Amino acid sequence: MTLKDRDKKHLWHPLTQHKLHPEAIAITKAKGCILYDEDGNEYIDAIASWYTCMYGHCNEYITSRVATQMQQLDQIVFSGFTHEPAIKLSEALIKILPDNQNKIFFSDNGSTSVEIGIKMALQFHFNKDEKRNTLIAFEDGFHGDTFGAMSVSGLSVYNGPFEDFFLEVKRIPTPNGKNNDVILNTLNTIIKTNKVAGFIYEPLVQGAAAMKMYNSDGLNAILKFCKDHHIVTVADEVMTGFGKTGTYFASDHIDTKPDIICLSKALTGGLLPMALTTCSEEIYEAFYSDNISKGLFHGHTYSANPLACTAALASIELLQSETMQQNIKTIIASHKAFNEHIKNHPKVKSTRQTGVIFALDLNIEMKRYGNLRDTLFKFFLGSGVFLRPLGNTIYIQAPYVITKKQLEKVYKTIEEALSIV
Ligand SMILES: *Cc1c(COP(=O)(O)O)cnc(C)c1O
Repeated sequence: MTLKDRDKKHLWHPLTQHKLHPEAIAITKAKGCILYDEDGNEYIDAIASWYTCMYGHCNEYITSRVATQMQQLDQIVFSGFTHEPAIKLSEALIKILPDNQNKIFFSDNGSTSVEIGIKMALQFHFNKDEKRNTLIAFEDGFHGDTFGAMSVSGLSVYNGPFEDFFLEVKRIPTPNGKNNDVILNTLNTIIKTNKVAGFIYEPLVQGAAAMKMYNSDGLNAILKFCKDHHIVTVADEVMTGFGKTGTYFASDHIDTKPDIICLSKALTGGLLPMALTTCSEEIYEAFYSDNISKGLFHGHTYSANPLACTAALASIELLQSETMQQNIKTIIASHKAFNEHIKNHPKVKSTRQTGVIFALDLNIEMKRYGNLRDTLFKFFLGSGVFLRPLGNTIYIQAPYVITKKQLEKVYKTIEEALSIV
């Protein structure tokens, strides 16, 4: 029996209606930008396996460092104990994070890093004897699938069964360069009738909303408003972190820095699951007290797992290397050239780019998980490219180590796909 068939017996996949999508492709090996399936097919991983494997799959620099660490210390409780991989990682991170960030809290996936960001924002006010219970978020944001993260996500198409149990959230539109006054008016109305604890946002690019990009000056105005009203700002950089926007973090493009930053995805280069919630000294100080109950009583069994910390540290070293920084510049320039080539194609409605993230919208209406989307997805795989269209959006977020030839093939395949829709 093939792996594909054995899979069906006991496995339940994420974000899948198994009756409509019974088949999963069994991947047996991955190296660099290439995925290999059990039937011998090869695919270029043009979305870096959900934007995680930015240094290529099974990157030897990362795997060898983790292999060494494995012989030394595998796992240890992180309450009351500490270890060098976590300490080294914190030192490396603080050097590249926005200047106001000073403390790092560990967890193991993006949704959880958001839960922790939300809890920090709520408890920050609680510890100061101020009851603030409302959060502000963007209309089309996505922050994860746990309850707090679902609550702040605007993309709630599949959240129906849970909506009655959500946190109190007010929504604002993303800035488009023309709606600043509308947004600030809305914010003023919200704070008149609600006690707002925090504002959570994906800086510059909303990933799951199909790589929607928005105006950075408008975001800066919102962040300034929040600072003025003691609303804790939480940047969800789970997707945008570690070079995606051309700088280390998307927040680097914006003058007003967030109080809290959530990180995961590319953090470990895709090798091991890990997430971080970082914060400013001001946030941390609200929890630092002789009163034990003012502490942040949140923890996970695998918090700061030494192997994951080692993978993250090796990944950051790679990101900082001249080669990787040059690769990022090359991809940005290459996307720009492709954009010029494709933007006037009759099947293309619009294109956009931030850093290494490139997206185009097709000139047709499509359901997020509809038939045409499936046809496109199959066409890409049949052509040897793994791209995962979101509704009528096709986007690229390839590993930084993608070769010129591989990237050309991705572009060519997208262009060919335009003729089948
Ligand atoms: C993927 C993602 C999350 C959720 O991370 P998981 O590790 O899948 O739980 C949260 N926020 C953003 C912006 C994401 O892209």
